[in-house]
Amino acid sequence: MRILLVEDDRMIGEAVSVALRDAAYAVDWVQDGETALRVLGDHEHQAVLLDLGLPRRDGLEVLRKLRADGSRLPVIVVTARDAVEDRIKGLDFGADDYLVKPFNVDELLARMRAIIRRQGGQASPVLTNGSVSLDPATREARHGDIECLLSAREFALLQALLLRPGAILTRAELEERIYGWNEEVESNAVDFLIHGIRKKLGADVIRNVRGAGWMVARNS
Ligand code: CA
Repeated sequence: MRILLVEDDRMIGEAVSVALRDAAYAVDWVQDGETALRVLGDHEHQAVLLDLGLPRRDGLEVLRKLRADGSRLPVIVVTARDAVEDRIKGLDFGADDYLVKPFNVDELLARMRAIIRRQGGQASPVLTNGSVSLDPATREARHGDIECLLSAREFALLQALLLRPGAILTRAELEERIYGWNEEVESNAVDFLIHGIRKKLGADVIRNVRGAGWMVARNS
């Protein structure tokens, strides 16, 4: 799950990046609105955490432009405690949720899970294709009688597949969802993670579609 963090405060930006990475998100962090818009055009993200007070273009402008371009990307806006009007504007401009500074990291993570879940059209917090299930709050996976805890990156990979059962994701698409742009990616990183997941949950959990990529079955 790849997140764009738009935050010009260095301390907050660093703390939030670390918290999101610890929770298995790939994070790209930019510090102004202009760069945010450029990056959103070039990379695929699954959600945006958007501060409103930003240099070059403020957060509301970024949000308005994004929605005007037809993007349905989930956006959480971040505002100061006394900026009620900005929060209302943010929601009216198409934000999915908001957080008030200073916010609790666990609350941020819970809101992040909720908007990503809603985007996937899932009401239940646990992702499943009918045979494998994955709990984003705990990173626990279940397959038949097997229950185990996945590493952050194993989780990110299986989550990407489980959000779209039956769809094939290529190596590049999986890497985009697991790694931020400043992270070094070994050429066999995806194979290594899939090997780890299969070892824990069983070989049939993830299917390899030769020459194309990987998928989880769409069971009903
Ligand atoms: Ca700011």
